[in-house]
Amino acid sequence: MKAEDMGWLGVPNSDLLQSALYLIRTRTAETYVQKVKAHSGVEGNKKADELAKASLEKEPDASTVINVPVNWKYNGARLAKMNFNSLYRWINYLEDKGPTTRAPQIVEWLLEDFAAWGGRKHTPESLWNSIRNSPFRREVTDFYWQALHGRTVCGPYFCHWGGEWEERQFCSCGEMETLQHILNGCDDREWVTKAWREAVNILGELKAAGQEAFLIPSYEQAMTIGLTSRKKKGAERLIKIVISETAFAIWKHRNAVVIRNEAVNGARAASTVRDVILRRAQVDLNTTRLPEFRSRRHLRRQIAKITATWENLFREVPGPLRWIPSDHG
Ligand SMILES: [Zn+2]
Repeated sequence: MKAEDMGWLGVPNSDLLQSALYLIRTRTAETYVQKVKAHSGVEGNKKADELAKASLEKEPDASTVINVPVNWKYNGARLAKMNFNSLYRWINYLEDKGPTTRAPQIVEWLLEDFAAWGGRKHTPESLWNSIRNSPFRREVTDFYWQALHGRTVCGPYFCHWGGEWEERQFCSCGEMETLQHILNGCDDREWVTKAWREAVNILGELKAAGQEAFLIPSYEQAMTIGLTSRKKKGAERLIKIVISETAFAIWKHRNAVVIRNEAVNGARAASTVRDVILRRAQVDLNTTRLPEFRSRRHLRRQIAKITATWENLFREVPGPLRWIPSDHG
């Protein structure tokens, strides 16, 4: 493959193509490749199109990533096929000036924004770690992982697909449907504001407990919420949970609207946010009740942090953590 000979430099979705090549090469039967015109009624092409559409409805999941074993990776450019121009591009790449994924760009831009708002300047590693660890749920981590790579299935993702897909770059309001637009930039989707307002209401309880008020976050703030730091670790944990879960809930509702043509209104979006936060509280409550949490001394500090996450929110309710309706979770 030509792209392979060139070391996959500047090839969109090269990681996916490399995985596909690996699967083809490890087949025992011979594989023939034939180029067909898109949307011209070729059976295999129609089937592939259907599968592509169906997979759009699934949630992104890092576990479906095919790991190509190192000895199957042919990504070293073959010098014999190199011309001066491509060699130059490779040198630039090796000097880290021309990344093949958008992740370094996106991460750098988010970190700059974070610092501009008075946070400290973090390393890319700390942003990646911030989404990998508690209190991010696995599903939410997957969503953030895709977002930091610029690979959420929206707007710019469809640029290279051609045909009918090109229209899908745009939101119903006419603007490019970037993740930024989805999370906090569309005037046509009132339900997004309603979802964020619900999140801010929940966090408003922190203000009563002497913490600073939390306003509706920008896209950048939502994406870097894992880096947020508060003196009170319970408050910090609650902010991370509420903002990341709300961003993820908005993303899922957007998929319902755009991919499944469902109607979403403010009430539905707000109740999803409320429900997901209550469910998180219930899971936390169950965790603190595990026998090993009670018996091991070093885990008691964790219980204290988990309890601190919710105590402000439900402090009016008598008894430790008695506030949770038992039918949740
Ligand atoms: Zn829009």
